[in-house]
Amino acid sequence: MLSNIVHSHEIASVADKILKALATPLQIEQNEISVSASIGISIYPDNAHNQDELLATADSAMYHAKKLGKNNYQFYTTEMNRAAKAYIRLEKHLRRALECNELELHYQPQIALESGQVVGMEALLRWNNLELGSVPPCDFIPVAEESGLIVPIGAWVLRMACSQAQQWRQSGYPVRIAVNLSSCQFQLDPDDLLDTVNKSLEESGLPPELLELEITETILMQHLDTTLNILEQLKNKGIRISVDDFGTGYSSLSYLKRFPIDTLKIDRSFVNDIASDPDDKAIVAAITVMAQQLNLEVVAEGMETLEQVEFLRSLCCHFGQGYYFSKPLNVESGTVFLQDNRIVLSTESLA
Ligand code: C2E
Ligand code: MG
Ligand code: MG
Repeated sequence: MLSNIVHSHEIASVADKILKALATPLQIEQNEISVSASIGISIYPDNAHNQDELLATADSAMYHAKKLGKNNYQFYTTEMNRAAKAYIRLEKHLRRALECNELELHYQPQIALESGQVVGMEALLRWNNLELGSVPPCDFIPVAEESGLIVPIGAWVLRMACSQAQQWRQSGYPVRIAVNLSSCQFQLDPDDLLDTVNKSLEESGLPPELLELEITETILMQHLDTTLNILEQLKNKGIRISVDDFGTGYSSLSYLKRFPIDTLKIDRSFVNDIASDPDDKAIVAAITVMAQQLNLEVVAEGMETLEQVEFLRSLCCHFGQGYYFSKPLNVESGTVFLQDNRIVLSTESLA
């Protein structure tokens, strides 16, 4: 019996461990004996309403496991099987992604809407695995977060991004570098996060003012005191803080005063429909005005059309980011560089 389960893949991990433990051969006198198991998994209250039903459904899942050749585990429903197995497969490969050099950063320019100049770049993680192909962040970031792998991966992102920004700075283009932080990096080990940020700045030589850390509303609302403390320490160093996907999270506007925030990034979902949805138009306008009144900078995310650019310009929104200007770009292959603060792309550079 397992209790306090949040995700079904946690059960799958335990089942995996049981199968592995049983697989160790036993030496009994002269004989080496191996045992295997077939495991059926059923979940209360999803698959059963009482004890008897729970056993019956687990039993039926176990027979299914036997039918599939024994020595495996099966959930009662196929959907749970699929989800748990996909998770475990992803996690297995992600565990080796750093050492196998499968991760890279792409960079998306942030443009000053008034002047058209590039003022910043957001670092966005990409993962290419031989077996899984290119896995989108929305699929692997949650796995990295749940498995704790986001801590070493996040540290790698910070190091790489700072070093890239320093390279741009040394070539005469001091653009800000924006790095996404996950709530797990705050929760698991806050001191480690501060340490990682400091080391990334020291090793690269990048001035703290050129580093912007993107956090979500969820981070702000969790563990208020610890979060406030970390953000203040970062802020005191001169690092900038921005709130990503603004408007989609738990909205308590009081934190805009309470936390040392520099920038709001209006979520793409609002910007997307400003041409067709008067409500979204009103929300974008209201966020922009509020941010200006609070002396915060505003970035509109996901700008794809000239119409959106013109509307945000008319609101005096400071910055924009989106496919209209540029998709996230691959720097490794030498396809993007900055000239007179304009992005210069060599051929086929759009990643
Ligand atoms: P985000 O930080 O809000 O990043 C913006 C996302 O919107 C990126 O998706 C970007 O490619 C996409 N995007 C930008 N402009 C447009 C546009 O005009 N149209 C459309 N349709 N999309 C646009 P991506 O790279 O897939 O990343 C998704 C999310 O994954 C990010 O959202 C961020 O929350 C997370 N993520 C990415 N890299 C990292 C990382 O290094 N660490 C952590 N913790 N999270 C990351
Ligand atoms: Mg972001
Ligand atoms: Mg965003």
